Amino acid sequence: MNCPYCEGYDYIKNGTYQTNYSYIQKYYCKDCGRWYIENEVKGEKKPELNQKVIELYEEGMPQRKIAETLGISKRTVYKKIKKYKKEEED
Ligand SMILES: [Zn+2]
Repeated sequence: MNCPYCEGYDYIKNGTYQTNYSYIQKYYCKDCGRWYIENEVKGEKKPELNQKVIELYEEGMPQRKIAETLGISKRTVYKKIKKYKKEEED
């Protein structure tokens, strides 16, 4: 993954540390000299799934159908779309 601050790809891995859930990989960006971790995006375990939900939503697919297509619950779809709309407004 590239640096979330400057989007540079020139990084070095610098060990891992353990949380309750998983190991987190630490990185040091040589471009901007900042530290970052692999799971920097908080609460987004599957960002690619979010993207897919929004993609289908933008195509005009009903939420029920999105849930079916991606094999997730309607509630999850609803929450993701709601969050997406909120971010659009900001
Ligand atoms: Zn950087």
